[in-house]
Amino acid sequence: ATPISLVIAAGKLARRGVVIKEASALESMAKLQVILLDKTGTLTEGKPCVAGIQPAEGWSAAALLRLAAAAEAKSQHPYAAAVRDEARRRGLVVPATEDEVEWPGYGVSAECPEGRITVGSRLLAQQQHWSGLKRVMDYAAIREMQGETVLLAALNDACIGAIALGDRLKPTSAQAVQALRQEGLEIWLTTGDSVGPATVAAREAGISRVEAGMLPADKLRLIRSLQQQGRIVAMAGDGWNDAPALAAADTGFAMAGGTDAALHAGHVALLRPSLLGIHGAVLASRLTVRNIK
Ligand code: ADP
Ligand code: MG
Repeated sequence: ATPISLVIAAGKLARRGVVIKEASALESMAKLQVILLDKTGTLTEGKPCVAGIQPAEGWSAAALLRLAAAAEAKSQHPYAAAVRDEARRRGLVVPATEDEVEWPGYGVSAECPEGRITVGSRLLAQQQHWSGLKRVMDYAAIREMQGETVLLAALNDACIGAIALGDRLKPTSAQAVQALRQEGLEIWLTTGDSVGPATVAAREAGISRVEAGMLPADKLRLIRSLQQQGRIVAMAGDGWNDAPALAAADTGFAMAGGTDAALHAGHVALLRPSLLGIHGAVLASRLTVRNIK
C-alpha cells in the first residue's frame, strides 16, 4: 500500500503544477545528485523569434525564408514555429511540400517544386557536404557568440543562407538553478545547440557544466555513463527527441508546453513553465522519505 504521506505530498505538489506520474518518483527524487537540463524550452522560454537573416549570394531574405518555412511546415520544434511565423509575418506564400523528413537534433527536409529543401544545424550541413557554406559561416559565428541559434538552409545541397533565432531564459531559470545548487545538486546544461548559444544560456542561468552539440543519443549515453559511475541522475526536457533520455534518467522531468511524447516519457510532469517545480519536488521528496522512515 502507498503510505498516506506519499499521497498527501503528491496532492500538494499537484496543486503547484507538479504531477507525479509514478509513485516511486516521490521517493527516488530524494537521492538525486545530478540534474541535466535541456536548453530550448526547458531553460529558455522555447519561443524563439527570427533575429536576423543572411541570404547566400543570389538569394533574397524573402526567398530564403519562404523555402525554409516550407521545409519546417510539419515540424513541432520551436525553431520551426519561429521560421513559419516570420514567413507569415512577411506575407510570404510558402510552397507546398511532400516527402517531409525530420532528423531529431539535426533538422528537417522536404521536397517542393523547386527541389529538396533542408534546414538544420551546422553539423547537418557539414555531414551533407553542402556547397557555398563558407560565406554564411562568419555570420553564423558572430550570431552564435551573441547567444543566438543559427539555422542553415539549403536547396539541393547548395546553401541558400542562414537564419538567426533569439530565445530568452525563463524568468525563473536562474533562481531555480541557484536553489537546486543550494540543495547540493550538480546542474548541467545539455543541448543539441552549438557551443556559443549553449555557453551564453548557461552563463545567464549560473550553470558551469555545459555539453553542447549533443544528439538525442548522446544525451542518453551521458546519462548511462553517469549512472555507471554510481550517480543518481535526473533529466529535464521538453522535446520528443528528449523522450529516450527522460525515460533513462532516474527521474525524468517533462516540461509541459513541449511535445506530448516528452510528457508521456517523464516520471514527473511540470505543468507550469518553470524549473522551480523541480526544486519543490525534490524538497517534498526529501520530506516524504524522512516521514516514512
Ligand atoms: P535542444 O537540445 O537545445 O533542445 P535539439 O536537440 O532539439 O536542441 O536540436 C539541436 C539542433 O538541431 C538545433 O540547434 C538546430 O540547429 C537543429 N534542429 C533541430 N530541429 C530542427 C528543426 N525543426 N529545424 C531546424 N533545425 C533544427
Ligand atoms: Mg529540446
